[in-house]
Amino acid sequence: MFKNILIVALSVYTFLTSHMIHSQPSISSSHQMSLMNRLLDTRGVEYDSLEHQAIGDSILIKYFIDEPGERGQKLNLSNGLELSYGQIIMLAGDFFAIAKTPISLCGEKKQQVCFEKAFASLAINGNLKDTQCQSPTVQAKGFLAFYDDVLVQLTLARENNIPDWQFYYQHSGEFNKKLNQISCGGSFISPYIPFGNYLKLSQNNIDHFIPHALEAYRVGHTAALNDALKAHHVFFTKNDKTKAKQLLTQAYAKNAFASHYLTDALSSGHMRVPRKKIHDTVLMPAILKLLLSNFMHDEDNRQGLDVTNGKGFSWRAYGDGYLNKPKADIHRYMIHQIIQTSADAIYDVFVTGIFPNKFAEFDYLPDYSKINTLNSNAPLFKVIDGQVYIRKAINNRQLHQWSKMWSGLISLIDLELNFDIYS
Ligand SMILES: [Zn+2]
Repeated sequence: MFKNILIVALSVYTFLTSHMIHSQPSISSSHQMSLMNRLLDTRGVEYDSLEHQAIGDSILIKYFIDEPGERGQKLNLSNGLELSYGQIIMLAGDFFAIAKTPISLCGEKKQQVCFEKAFASLAINGNLKDTQCQSPTVQAKGFLAFYDDVLVQLTLARENNIPDWQFYYQHSGEFNKKLNQISCGGSFISPYIPFGNYLKLSQNNIDHFIPHALEAYRVGHTAALNDALKAHHVFFTKNDKTKAKQLLTQAYAKNAFASHYLTDALSSGHMRVPRKKIHDTVLMPAILKLLLSNFMHDEDNRQGLDVTNGKGFSWRAYGDGYLNKPKADIHRYMIHQIIQTSADAIYDVFVTGIFPNKFAEFDYLPDYSKINTLNSNAPLFKVIDGQVYIRKAINNRQLHQWSKMWSGLISLIDLELNFDIYS
């Protein structure tokens, strides 16, 4: 009863405040601020970082025909950082990119430039002597040290039979604060204000969801293949092995960066969330739109989604925080195949000097258009005639009824108080 009164009271309040912020959606009231604080304190924004890294470090990277190749070796970047394929996949996009310009939204003519800028934000800008917080080298080292620490704690939790999702759930607030701080955000007023790069990127993370994730990947993979082509010419025409290795390393680094978006495209919580529609049409600050989208993201990650691909394989895909459970074995295998096929294409172009006329990894991807017919779970948000609808009964995934009449802030509070994704 009290809960219901609270919802009604907050609903009226938020309806009024949401109408006052139409013209300039930003965190404009103390109520919105405390809502943001509560959600960041209790829900993770990035659960999948170590999963991204583990996938990348299992990939075989080959250089020259007479060498066997290696997994997990460090790639030397222009700014002095030495990062493994997996570490680049982990840091790309979520921690390094250009927050204001998602790659997939840059337009055909500028997409390559947008990708190169995003890549430069991790691999080219700054140098190891920088000590300024904003330097990519300082931030990259900070994130890596943070995740080394998280891995120790996570390993301990696994030994105590605590599932990954529960471990992240327990540490959400602590981790969000720390990540915002490493990316130069936070102050004595609030650990979340101002936003560091971490929260700035999160609140505009369109590139990480289908269909945009595939576009961001396609652009970055193309850039990587072009570098591999340059490496081919330098090696086979000019016989310059050192320069060829340098260019091939850059090709692999760019491909790892692009593969962040490919791994996201394989996470069930990124497959059908109408992230851009929510970002474009719901009237509230961008960070709250992220947190609203995350309810559906979390539910689809946990429940998983049945998928099928053009090769005739059918399996159940899972997402962030759920990849390590035994039920996700087949899905992990498919992710590995896809990410390895992508890296192999870089090597093939280096050896043959021929740019592929199609991307072989795309054949293994889920057919995203079939997801809703394959799954009986009703999505929390659904686009009908260009408009975002919300599931009428938030805790009944079997009820295929959605409502057109809803408000972002009211629903966000309703979800915060009543949504039970763990049932
Ligand atoms: Zn991502």
